Amino acid sequence: MRDKEVRKLIGKEAKRQNDTLNLIASENYVSKDVREALGSVFVNKYAEGYPHARYYGGNTYVDEVEELAKRRALKLFSLSPKAWSVNVQPYSGSPANLAVLHALVPVGEKIMGMSLAMGGHLTHGHKVSVTGKLWEQIPYGVDRGTENIDYGEVMRIAKKEQPKLIIAGATAYSRIVNFKKMKAIADAVGAYLLVDMSHFAGLVAGKAYPSPFPYADAVTTTTHKTLRGPRAAMIFSRNTHPPIPNSKFLISELIDKAVFPGLQGGPHENQIAAIAVALEEAMKPAFKKYAAQIVKNTRAFAEEMKRLGWRVISGGTDTHLFLLDTASRGIGGKEASDALEDAGIIVNKNTIPFDERKPTDPSGIRIGTAALTTRGMKEKEMKEIAFLINAVLGGISKRKKNEAQGKVVRLCKKFPV
Ligand SMILES: *Cc1c(COP(=O)(O)O)cnc(C)c1O
Repeated sequence: MRDKEVRKLIGKEAKRQNDTLNLIASENYVSKDVREALGSVFVNKYAEGYPHARYYGGNTYVDEVEELAKRRALKLFSLSPKAWSVNVQPYSGSPANLAVLHALVPVGEKIMGMSLAMGGHLTHGHKVSVTGKLWEQIPYGVDRGTENIDYGEVMRIAKKEQPKLIIAGATAYSRIVNFKKMKAIADAVGAYLLVDMSHFAGLVAGKAYPSPFPYADAVTTTTHKTLRGPRAAMIFSRNTHPPIPNSKFLISELIDKAVFPGLQGGPHENQIAAIAVALEEAMKPAFKKYAAQIVKNTRAFAEEMKRLGWRVISGGTDTHLFLLDTASRGIGGKEASDALEDAGIIVNKNTIPFDERKPTDPSGIRIGTAALTTRGMKEKEMKEIAFLINAVLGGISKRKKNEAQGKVVRLCKKFPV
């Protein structure tokens, strides 16, 4: 690269990624092939519209690559093209969720989503998000005792509030969501069920988490978290008519219209090419092993933290992440994540259910293993990292942080990105 300043920053970031332990639950390391597709000549092309219905010329190969991505997406999740459609054009997860709401819910109506403070995503109707300004969020959370979703309570709220759409799926919830129960709740009030599987899509693909497809009307997902693709998103939706009398369009058609021309202009075809690559990778037997290893790693990690005397939210995990209550040991989430970063361990601060501290300095941290599992680490390394976290947070000092950092660098060298 001729641009020295950017080249230098890329080099520094590569080194940072190599020399630190990434426990951010929403991050991963993509393959060289995914990066090659992202940096390919598809970046030069405008392609407003959909395959074979574009507003620009020169789309022969763009059409092929977008159709390839769509075919692979349906195949990966075992969906029949008769029953399901997929839109691979959303720029990222947030616009994908906005598109679904825009397609299916009249502005001003109620949508039900997990509250941000309990683990939901901003775009599930939080008031600072446009999804909370255009629609009224009816929040649900978890049970105070079990820290699991209380489906009876979700049903009670839904019956009282009569939302038009219910969102299942979250960003800081470590347990398997019972989609069957969420569907029963949606049916009881005549609401759509949207599953946002952004976090656990890779686990669904690798059969390490139940599929939401038998129950959902639409499924959104980012492609860059456990699915290990480029930063982008997809929307799956049913080829059925919505329950609106005389509706001319299918749910999937309404969603396509909401993405383009509703919310977006030209799709990022280089991202779409990279999605296609990632989807092919996710169909390989090795990916199934990867998904299973993620869950094994997270469980081993959480168990070790518990053994070392830390409180894990809901007492464990079924997924690629868990939440650690640091405040119960007198350390704020911000202080904890800052101290760990000094030692080369990257996490994010996170609210825990019923958090009494403010979101900018909440009571916990979120720990995810998808990225380190990509580096090849197994249960043994997870326990080692748990030990290092315990050492750093067990009495924060410069000496402890330095000591841990030495060990972090050694571990990173053994498992290069
Ligand atoms: C990450 C995430 C999103 C948003 O994705 P962006 O690509 O950051 O816009 C949406 N929903 C959930 C549940 C997420 O975890």
